[in-house]
Amino acid sequence: MTIVPILLYHCVSADPAGWIAPYAVSPRTFARHVELMAASGRTPMTVTTLTDALRDGRELPARPLVVTFDDGFADFADAATVLAARQIPCTLYVTTGALRGPHQSSRLCLPPARMLAWSQLPELAEHHVEIGAHTHTHPQLDILRERVAAAEIRECKDLLEDAMGTEVRSFAYPHGFHSARVKRQVHVAGYTSAAAVGNALSSTADDPFALARLTIRSTTTIDELTAWLAGRDAAVAPFPQAWRTTAWRTYRRLRGRRSTRGVITMPVRPSRPLGGI
Ligand SMILES: [Zn+2]
Repeated sequence: MTIVPILLYHCVSADPAGWIAPYAVSPRTFARHVELMAASGRTPMTVTTLTDALRDGRELPARPLVVTFDDGFADFADAATVLAARQIPCTLYVTTGALRGPHQSSRLCLPPARMLAWSQLPELAEHHVEIGAHTHTHPQLDILRERVAAAEIRECKDLLEDAMGTEVRSFAYPHGFHSARVKRQVHVAGYTSAAAVGNALSSTADDPFALARLTIRSTTTIDELTAWLAGRDAAVAPFPQAWRTTAWRTYRRLRGRRSTRGVITMPVRPSRPLGGI
């Protein structure tokens, strides 16, 4: 099993909107982070490059790294330039109803902030940026009615594909909140991966529809990031509890073949990772 740090950024600004400030880093700090990424000896790749390789059984570089951004803040355009200068690809998960332009939603769950415009997406896609989807209005999917959640998951994909003329295959759960039902809906909608939060290192054994990410906060220190890039100082997904659950399910299945006795209560794995935006 290979450890894969998947970093989660939101906003790169010296003057972020107050509500996103705990998840913002300054351009100066971000430039330092990018230097650390470049010096880490890791091979950066997009989420879909990673998950395609895992699905197809292709060999990965010894030390992969994935950089992701959520929501689609306007300052991402500058961050993308800094990454591109170092040949570091990334995945941007866009909340389509928040983008400036024709599809702005009056039901948006995100507070106001300066966001990217639809017209910027094609150019970003040409500069090592994979565009992924992050719902249309940024709701908590796991508490929505099934039909409403399905519409949120599909609408952003359709809008992005219409705008860019390319397939959108990666998805990120708003706040990382998901459930078995939501994961299934994302799969059915045609995505090939989904990013959660988890605040853990991902790995080649991680669930492609609940990829663990490490949230970068305004308080994240250079030492913390250095450790994460070295594959240290964070739990590694999938977590031991998940393995135990899997083992228990296997035991139940096998046992069920031999016995028709009553229902066995299964231990419940916490389905909600630590939140983000
Ligand atoms: Zn978000």
